[in-house]
Amino acid sequence: MKVVCPVCNRLFEAECTPYKEIVNEVMYYFDTEMCLLGFRKEPERFITKCKNAE
Ligand SMILES: [Zn+2]
Repeated sequence: MKVVCPVCNRLFEAECTPYKEIVNEVMYYFDTEMCLLGFRKEPERFITKCKNAE
């Protein structure tokens, strides 16, 4: 499954990453640990950004 990292907007395979986070019952995938840590600091920022992009 192809997913987009909400932090850096890079497209990658969800099966290839150990970095995942569930927020409001939605699973988010991250390509790097750095992106996951950045997301955990300010999840609202990236979730809002994601919705705006739709
Ligand atoms: Zn990323």
